[in-house]
Amino acid sequence: SDSHFPVPVSPRHVDYSAHFPELFPSSDQVDGNSQRIQFADVGCGFGGLLISLATLFPETLMVGMELRDKVTEYVKERILALRVTNPGQYRNVSVVRTNSMKYIPNYFEKGQLSKMFFLFPDPHFKEKNHRRRVISPHLLDEYAYVLQVGGIIYTITDVEELGEWMKACLEQHPMFEPLTDQELEADPVVKLLSTATEEGQKVARNGGQTFTAVYRRIAGSSS
Ligand code: SAM
Repeated sequence: SDSHFPVPVSPRHVDYSAHFPELFPSSDQVDGNSQRIQFADVGCGFGGLLISLATLFPETLMVGMELRDKVTEYVKERILALRVTNPGQYRNVSVVRTNSMKYIPNYFEKGQLSKMFFLFPDPHFKEKNHRRRVISPHLLDEYAYVLQVGGIIYTITDVEELGEWMKACLEQHPMFEPLTDQELEADPVVKLLSTATEEGQKVARNGGQTFTAVYRRIAGSSS
């Protein structure tokens, strides 16, 4: 349960020197450093997307958020090993064990994030479990809060019903608009959605279909 992992009381309490020791050599320097985490991979699983993004955006800080303890430990080890074998690389990527459905505002300030990822989330098929889905009208309010205007939410699934659900939630939300086909084509990150994660690779091996929804945070009356 949640009692087994620590939760920062506010984004200012996130220990950047623990997550990015080469960039934040001591915790004292965190306040003076304007660099903040900009990408969040929610339910990152084994971390394949983050590993790809870390070298594609070497100057951007990013974290995975993962509920399962063992999986989080695996991703931590994976990143540490990559840092050792590739000096100077992967120092911008880390992972936290947390319940993203509860603690996103503990990690990120208003308007802090430029990208959020929800790749192959658990489907929770039954109607009564829809409230456990990581994309919902209520949680989109939270994601809109931590995303900067112009920030992007990327979603993909191999479950058609969930794909329709995520798209409908985003479509109906006043703070999000879809990217155009040209924008999707031009964004190098879109290609990674179906290829970079472990779940995406499994779906591709089995020849499964995928359903993608990519939306931009727009300015609203309260931002
Ligand atoms: N995104 C990865 C991929 O594409 O390979 C993993 C997909 S896996 C089907 C879904 C992941 O979300 C699991 O690792 C699960 O532990 C994690 N997860 C589920 N609910 C979560 C929550 N509330 N907070 C954080 N992670 C969660």
